[in-house]
Amino acid sequence: MPQSLSQALLINHFIGGEAAQTASGRTGPVWNPATGQQIAEVNFASAEDVDHAVAVAKAAFPAWRATSLSRRSEILFKFRNLIDQHRERLAEILSTENGKTLADARGEIARGLENVEFACGIPTLLKGGYSEQSSTGVDVYQIRQPLGVVAGITPFNFPAMVPLWMMANAIACGNTFVLKPSEKVPSASLLLADLAHQAGLPDGVLNVLQGDRVAVDRLLAHPDVKAISFVGSTPIARYIYETGTRNGKRVQALGGAKNHMLVLPDAEVEAAADAAISAGYGAAGQRCMAISVIVAVGAVADPLIEAIRKRIPKIKVGPGLEQGSEMGPLVTREQRDRVAGILEGAASEGATLAVDGRDGAVTSREGFFLGASLVDNAAPGMRCYDEEIFGPVLSVVRVKTYAEGLKLINENPYGNGTAIFTQNGGAARQFQFEVEAGMVGINVPIPVPVSYYSFGGWKSSLFGDLHMYGPEGIQFYTRSKIVTSRWPDPGTSKVDLGFPQVR
Ligand code: NAD
Repeated sequence: MPQSLSQALLINHFIGGEAAQTASGRTGPVWNPATGQQIAEVNFASAEDVDHAVAVAKAAFPAWRATSLSRRSEILFKFRNLIDQHRERLAEILSTENGKTLADARGEIARGLENVEFACGIPTLLKGGYSEQSSTGVDVYQIRQPLGVVAGITPFNFPAMVPLWMMANAIACGNTFVLKPSEKVPSASLLLADLAHQAGLPDGVLNVLQGDRVAVDRLLAHPDVKAISFVGSTPIARYIYETGTRNGKRVQALGGAKNHMLVLPDAEVEAAADAAISAGYGAAGQRCMAISVIVAVGAVADPLIEAIRKRIPKIKVGPGLEQGSEMGPLVTREQRDRVAGILEGAASEGATLAVDGRDGAVTSREGFFLGASLVDNAAPGMRCYDEEIFGPVLSVVRVKTYAEGLKLINENPYGNGTAIFTQNGGAARQFQFEVEAGMVGINVPIPVPVSYYSFGGWKSSLFGDLHMYGPEGIQFYTRSKIVTSRWPDPGTSKVDLGFPQVR
């Protein structure tokens, strides 16, 4: 352990409105990916810590669900303003623990904030339906009620935005929430929880449990946890969905991705190259909506690859906190080495390493850096195509026709996002109609929906029925109750043993 850690931080849980130590005695390291140094140690929750946090959240539930919609909305407005005021502090935390650039971190915060703004509208969002005179003197109406204690389990790549996708709506709907953030990036959630409490959120409504699989497994088994929202890799998403639903919970589990960008021969090549660079190498490719495969149709391949190749040397790779850096490091040394290994094997699999990001000037730096890479002539069956790389690598698959490109995309096991680049409106509309992915961009490379739509992929990119945040988020965090009501006129009351009819 480095010397500097003698006074290093021990990062705690946040339970019942205050920092809480762990009972487990287990901790894990937190790294600064830009320096390659360990900067803190984080407590890992035991099963008993989970039980304690869930008990605290359960105790807070009755009063919170009874809190008026206007009061909930008022707290959310204040929470929104406090996040706004602390943007820079939050961005620094994101950059320090995750490695992303400050500009990228600010973007993440802005997109997370949108979800709090959406949740501020909870009085309108929870409106039910009302049918007067469904039968003579009988009215029927629907109300939506919270579930109880709900949990969120989040990945390393969006340490603020993904927790905000979940917590804003969960709490607005009247649930109490236990968040288990990625152990690689534990601090952003603590700041968010602290700001929520400064905004007036009662103790126990929002709790943060640091930890690993031990905490996750106890949340999955705990009878008082009614629903689980998960975002992370596909194998874990599948495990969370299968285990959570087997234990009777409502689960939405978002998994990994392999997002294809289909470029038709009529596309504006320079604009498509700009988009591919931005969406492929932004956040060093560590976005679930990053473009990782370019499907080049026909004659567009050569000029497009050339335009991308020309842009790559201009990308400024450097520490996220450093002014001017455009691409930071990967999150861990292991991940950097894994991606480098995929590049190492690409040529022997039959692909062409058009730009090799393992350039010594970048990889010899202290942190977990890797330059941008471009792999031409990729194809199914090669590691660079089959695996979710989650690094700064764009693979190009050359196809002859639109139909061949579409087939490739639809046969891929993932279906998170996809994009088409063309000037032909009819082709774009046809693509939107027949492509099998949950989020589609038309000349937009990263089509992350705005907060008043919902986010989610298809196939192995999402397990569950409801997408995350937006209207489907409100549905996920509430259950419907239908009330049939009569206020009989005593003069018309009579015994009738027949099944009630409405006509
Ligand atoms: P991950 O699956 O390793 O971890 C996600 C969460 O699961 C973390 O909180 C982690 O502690 C926990 N976890 C890890 N292993 C576990 C196990 N064996 N049992 C129980 N819990 C476990 O994912 P990551 O590396 O943090 O994030 C990157 C992945 O997330 C990528 O695959 C990316 O595509 C995906 N992702 C998807 C979306 C989406 O919206 N679909 C968004 C962001 C990230």
